[in-house]
Amino acid sequence: MMWTILGPLVCVAICQIFIWFTFPHLAPEDFRKVAITATILPTVIAAPLFFMHSLKLRELAIANHKLNDLASLDGLTGCLNRRSFQSTVEDWLRRTSQGAFLIIDADNFKSINDTYGHERGDEALRVIAGAVSASMRQEDLCGRIGGEEFGVYLPNVQIPVATEVAERLRAAVSDAPFAPYHDDDYRNLSVSVGCAVHSRATSYAELFSAADEQLYVAKELGRDRVRLAVIDPAVEAQLQGRRRAAN
Ligand code: GH3
Ligand code: MG
Ligand code: MG
Repeated sequence: MMWTILGPLVCVAICQIFIWFTFPHLAPEDFRKVAITATILPTVIAAPLFFMHSLKLRELAIANHKLNDLASLDGLTGCLNRRSFQSTVEDWLRRTSQGAFLIIDADNFKSINDTYGHERGDEALRVIAGAVSASMRQEDLCGRIGGEEFGVYLPNVQIPVATEVAERLRAAVSDAPFAPYHDDDYRNLSVSVGCAVHSRATSYAELFSAADEQLYVAKELGRDRVRLAVIDPAVEAQLQGRRRAAN
């Protein structure tokens, strides 16, 4: 709309300036006629052109937005896809030295597929993603980083909040209603969560490895639980001291 008005106005202004310099000696009556023509013609021609142009620009912007979504979102769950999640977390890690990285893995998911079929399995994944996403703050990130595995990054949080959020996400999945036959027969879903809280600069690879280790322990301990590790300079110094004392 702005261009539809601004565009013709600029054209009219250019025409007026042009005739002002080109015909300085015209009689006032003739000058008025030329000036009117130089107002009407560009308005009639330019207004529809600029209108069409702004419509095309709008369509292009919408298509661009859709393409962006397609390139960065996971088609099944609507979470970020793996590539986009990793690069957004890495952006955060360049700016902050504090946060928590969670790997959330659906428990015994193979049995859901085996019992109800792959399509219902997909539905269960959407339920899990929905429960996780609904329990996060706006700046937190959630991505699907594997088949039945989600990554979550909570920027600028410390151990107490990280613990509380991880537990809240686990409980949200546990409470999420999943009715494989779309009736009153609900099937329990659960996830295990490996969490790495960092209070120094770190990398995606280091966070992933620490959280993955904890996820493995959570699975070993019986699933449906949260395990947490810290990447913290004070804790690391303490561990180093103990190792030195032991040698
Ligand atoms: P665990 O508790 O140890 O994680 O057991 P699990 O059965 O969840 O783990 P496993 O790695 O044995 O199996 C993962 C299953 O997730 C197998 C695979 O078919 C299923 N899966 C992965 N991606 C998708 C998907 O996009 N849709 C569906 N329906 N299933 C998927
Ligand atoms: Mg699993
Ligand atoms: Mg897995």
